Amino acid sequence: MNSQLALLGGPATITQNFKHYNPIGEEEVQAAKEVIESGVLSQFIGAWHPDFLGGPKVKEFEALCAKHFGVKHAITVNSWTSGLIAAVGAIGIQPGDEVIVPPWTMCASATAILHWNAIPVFADIDPQTFCISPQSIEDNITPFTKAIMAVDIFGQSADMDAIMSIAKRHHLKVISDTAQAPGAMYKGKYAGTLADVGGFSLNYHKHIHTGEGGILVTDDDEIAKRLQLIRNHAEAVVQGMGMTDLTNMVGYNFRLGEIECAMGITQLKKLGHFVNGRQKVAQRFNQTLSSLPGLTLPHVMPDSTHAYYVYPMLLDTLALGVKRETLIKALQAEGVTGIGAGYQNVHMLPMFQQKIAYGSHGFPWTSDICHREISYTKGICPVAEKYHDETYMGFAMCLHDLNHADVDLIAKAFLKVWNHLDELKRIP
Ligand SMILES: *Cc1c(COP(=O)(O)O)cnc(C)c1O
Repeated sequence: MNSQLALLGGPATITQNFKHYNPIGEEEVQAAKEVIESGVLSQFIGAWHPDFLGGPKVKEFEALCAKHFGVKHAITVNSWTSGLIAAVGAIGIQPGDEVIVPPWTMCASATAILHWNAIPVFADIDPQTFCISPQSIEDNITPFTKAIMAVDIFGQSADMDAIMSIAKRHHLKVISDTAQAPGAMYKGKYAGTLADVGGFSLNYHKHIHTGEGGILVTDDDEIAKRLQLIRNHAEAVVQGMGMTDLTNMVGYNFRLGEIECAMGITQLKKLGHFVNGRQKVAQRFNQTLSSLPGLTLPHVMPDSTHAYYVYPMLLDTLALGVKRETLIKALQAEGVTGIGAGYQNVHMLPMFQQKIAYGSHGFPWTSDICHREISYTKGICPVAEKYHDETYMGFAMCLHDLNHADVDLIAKAFLKVWNHLDELKRIP
């Protein structure tokens, strides 16, 4: 404990590399192999035909997802970005409609809105959960608001009771981006299943994955049908299917393959185990780190569980008298990998700052479809901005498969850094 900080030339606390997180095992190898040997790697047909809904593994995986998450419909897509685009289209968004989204998310939440020539409006985050703030949603509602996209950031559900009640009062649709929180619970239900439509990512960095992929979930028959159409060349299918309302029936190829779905079937069975493992790691961090002054640990809402895609923290840098960047450098020097300052503020991306998305002349913001002047200037989301610029620090839980000894070593590095705050205060 008394040894010199690694940042100042002392020995590092952690000298080994931790085991890489890898949810893929022998079961997935076998499942993929069986599909490859069958010769049917995808069985979709982009027309009104028995194979419009895909082949056997797609159907099996979707049925399993619906059962697992307790929803009427699960619809696979080739990425969750595709899933978000399909969701915005399927709820019937019109060009120029405003959709409220938080800035603390992956950029695809906002661009999915733009894809339908609708307008992302950023509401601030809740100071405790980092998810969209219901109060800020209310503050951003205009006569042009048509939907809310709630993001279950870092692994915890947004406050869905409050959000659904706002939506009901203002006749808005709600989409849940639960990419980072598969398996997290909110009041006895799975995160992602409380909105009109929600879903999960199956990309390489998420709790379970199939390389790339996504799962949409909904209880609404009409939305489900429209999601399936947008996934698979809607414009060529509507007539045969007898769809008369052509709203947003512009299709894509968002189809997920048989190999991915076969792997998804075995991955889904392991989800609970992986989430449980992350929760145990977080509990162990909580036990050790709770004694450190000036450090706020993750706040889990009552009646919720956290899936810990990230272990989010806040630093009281004023009380500590140490700059956040200095603390993080000191932790990194001790061998803590996956620790970083701030999180992406999507509204600060060049696309929104310069309002250049489709073409180079400000479409859709400068066109007639946009009902009013939209502001993306710094200051519109003060909590998200302050946290990003000054006080937020996140530990990526998706990088390593940490055992108890690893967690204790990381915690030891934190304790060492906190024992040397006086030296760190002198670093400008
Ligand atoms: C990963 C992620 C996405 C995008 O998922 P892909 O499957 O990579 O397209 C969207 N939103 C959030 C919050 C994410 O973490």
